[in-house]
Parts: sequence; structure tokens; C-alpha cells
Amino acid sequence: MHDPSQAATATTRVRLFGNRDSAEAWEIRDFLKRSVVEFDWVELVSDEDCRRELGLQDLQNVRLPVVQLPGGERLYGPSLRDVAGRLGFVAKPKLKEYDLSIYGAGPAGLSAAVYAASEGLRTVLIERSAVGGQAGTTSMIENYMGFPEGINGADLAERARQQAVKFGVELLMMQEGTKSEFHDDRIWTDLADGGQMVARANICATGVEWRRLNLANEDRLLGRGVYYGAGASEAPLCGGEDVVVVGGGNSAGQAVMHLAAHARSVTMLVRDKGLAASMSQYLSERILSEPNVSVRFDAEITGLEGDGALRRIEVTTRSTRQAAWIETPRLFVAIGGVPNTDWAADTPIVRDEGGYLVTGPDLLVDGRPPPVWTRERLPYYLETAVPGSFAAGDVRHRSIKRVATAAGEGAMAVAFVHRYLDETA
Ligand SMILES: Cc1cc2nc3c(=O)[nH]c(=O)nc-3n(C[C@H](O)[C@H](O)[C@H](O)COP(=O)(O)OP(=O)(O)OC[C@H]3O[C@@H](n4cnc5c(N)ncnc54)[C@H](O)[C@@H]3O)c2cc1C
Repeated sequence: MHDPSQAATATTRVRLFGNRDSAEAWEIRDFLKRSVVEFDWVELVSDEDCRRELGLQDLQNVRLPVVQLPGGERLYGPSLRDVAGRLGFVAKPKLKEYDLSIYGAGPAGLSAAVYAASEGLRTVLIERSAVGGQAGTTSMIENYMGFPEGINGADLAERARQQAVKFGVELLMMQEGTKSEFHDDRIWTDLADGGQMVARANICATGVEWRRLNLANEDRLLGRGVYYGAGASEAPLCGGEDVVVVGGGNSAGQAVMHLAAHARSVTMLVRDKGLAASMSQYLSERILSEPNVSVRFDAEITGLEGDGALRRIEVTTRSTRQAAWIETPRLFVAIGGVPNTDWAADTPIVRDEGGYLVTGPDLLVDGRPPPVWTRERLPYYLETAVPGSFAAGDVRHRSIKRVATAAGEGAMAVAFVHRYLDETA
């Protein structure tokens, strides 16, 4: 993967070379963008590009994508984990046991980490991808208090990451909790790399994941014209293109506005007959008045086609069931999410029918906690059915799904962690 003989001149930025429709290149681009790593994307189309950019003769014989690190060293066909590792994002746990383990470094997890570490808890924050969660994919958050001009989601997350690290949080990125057990007043979590994490309390802040269209060809075209979310890393590459966004909520609306600044036209496909009641009014007003944006209501996607990359999508009018194909090289899917809670399936933790974690008063039936609850007292507001195991942010049953509420719940969960740790000391 790494060939030192091909080291190039040192640069201050990462350089990423590859094919336009490469899913691997897109995955790396997306990670770098969300991690606020400065990089140049260089598209290679011909042998001439290959000679000029890489000093290599024949594009066909180069393992793409190629990542050139700031020192000039090149990685050929690396995995995302390789790239993250070489940029210093991957680490092993330093301690055998922590006071608090936090899963998920979106706004809820980052906020919990800042408060926990600043209040002296031995805290580890585990994130399976880039920091920032959904907020990190957002080009502009305009309704977060304190930023009257709005703030880019990845920048907000990076500030929080720096703050958490400053207070001594151990951040383990590209690492995932897969299964948990609760005994001896500890949570024992298996990590995806085979390791185990032990902590006296935990906060689950694993948020939600994009809902899929569940159409034929979807997996094959992912990263090759089909993308989930706001397309923060892809928008600058959409110059002169006619692109499509599917979804009617805030996240779809933000994607539309961000893409409209780059693409020739943006078509927004909305299932309902109007923009979602949950969409902020300022956003729906802008969408409806943007000259290169058109909104099609009562519409759903029923087909995806393309060989190496997306070529066209089938759109069906829901009320008449009439279908027609639209040519487009890029489709951005923002149709809501499902919670990341599979890990809780074999635990006493209570989930609702959608898979969200039920906490505090929502656990009570006729004023009584569920039979699995083991304490005399009632569960704290953000506590799950397992004492010492808390949930914050979008992953929680009936959560508000906003950056501010996720950050607020993260901070609040830490206050309950202190109470719980005092009980078990
Ligand atoms: C495009 C878009 C635009 C938005 N715009 C706004 C806005 O303008 N204003 C606003 O207030 N809100 C906005 N939101 C909503 C807001 O971003 C979310 O409510 C907020 O990010 C929720 O934070 P969270 O920390 O609960 O979860 P998430 O942000 O979903 O973060 C969860 C994190 O957990 C990680 N994770 C999942 N499973 C595991 C595991 N097993 N182990 C380790 N890590 C794991 C994920 O990788 C992710 O990083 C927007 C959302 C989107 C998608």
C-alpha cells in the first residue's frame, strides 16, 4: 500500500488523487472534510494526468485512490482506516478502566466529554468514524445559539474536539462498540477491533444513521453518484450539473441550499404535498425562492440506474403512480434516520418500537420502573433501564433532534453520572 520510493515533494496539505466515480475516494474525501483536514482533490482521467500529477506513466497500473500525506509520502489504494491511522486519528485505550465511557462523538457525545473531563472524570470517547456525527456533515448550522452568522458543522465539532482533548478526554476514533454487558457495577463493551472497554458508567450518544431507499443498485452506486446526507464534500464537485435531493426535512433542505451554490440546478423530491412541518421556516422560504431550485411534491424515487456510476433515477408521482426517468449524475438522500442501537439488543436496556433508547420517566408504567430495573430509586431522567447507563441526543426516545438539545443532554447526562458514581463509590 505504501511505497516510499514514490515519495513526492512535501506539502502542507493532504493530496488525494483518484477517479471521479470512485466510492473509495469519496469515503476518504468525506472523512477528511468532516475531520477538518485541509486537502486537495485531484481527479485523474488520463495517462497524461497521471504523469503530470504523480510522475507515473500509466494510470491503469496505479492503485487508486492515492493519498499523499503532508510529508510527501504516498499511500496507494489505502483503506479509510489506513489513512486515519497515518494522520494520527487512531489510538488504543490507555487505561484498563475508566469512570465514564461515551459512545459516539456527535454533539451529544462531545458535549458530555467536555463536561465530564473538565469535572475530573477519567473519560474515554469512542467514535467509529469522524467526530461531529450528523452535525459534522452539515455545511451551515444557522440556529445554534452564539453563532449569528451560522457555523459549519465540521468546524463546530472540531472546536468541541479540541476543548474535550484540552480537558484530558481520551478520544478513540475509527473504533466501534459492538456489544455490551453490565455486571459488577461496570459496563464491559466489546470493541470492533477485538479489544474490550471497561467503565463504571457510560453514555450512549450514538445518534441516528441515514435511512436507506432500499432500491435495487443502491449499494453498488453508493459513493458513485448516490450519497447519504448533505453532500458537504461533494458540493464543490457538482459545478454545471443537474443534481437531485430526496427528502423534505431540515437536513434535506440544508443539502439543497448548499448544493444550489455549486450545481446548475437542484431538484428536491418530497413525498408529501408540502415541506415538512419540522423544517425551519427560514429554510423553506429560501428553498422556494432560490432560482436554480425546483421542488417536486408528491414524488418518490422508485429506481436507480447506472453502470460504473449513477446515470438516471425513476421518479413516481405518488397520487397517480405515474413514473418517469430523470437523468442525473448525483442523488443526495436525506430521508431521516434510524437509531444506532443494535448493540443493546441482548441487554436489559429498553428500546421503543423504532429502536430508540427509553430513559427516565418514559420507562415508568403506572409510576413503576420496568421489572429489569435493579435499584430502589427511580431511573434518573436520562438513565436507561440499566443503572449507570445513560443516553443522550438523537438516540434517545422522543429526542428533539437538534444540535443544541443533543449538546444539552450530553452535559445533563454527566450530572447524572456524578450522582450515580457517588451512589456506587
Ligand atoms: C444534514 C443535517 C443538517 C442538520 N442541521 C441542523 C441544524 O441546522 N440545526 C440543528 O439544531 N440540528 C441540525 N441537524 C440535526 C443535528 O445534527 C442532530 O440532532 C445532532 O447531530 C444529534 O447529535 P447526536 O450527538 O445525538 O448524534 P449524531 O450527530 O448522530 O452522532 C452520533 C455519533 O455516534 C457515532 N456512532 C454510532 N454508533 C457508534 C458505535 N457503535 N460506536 C461508536 N460510535 C458510534 C456516529 O458515527 C456519530 O458520529 C442536522 C442534521 C443533519 C443530518
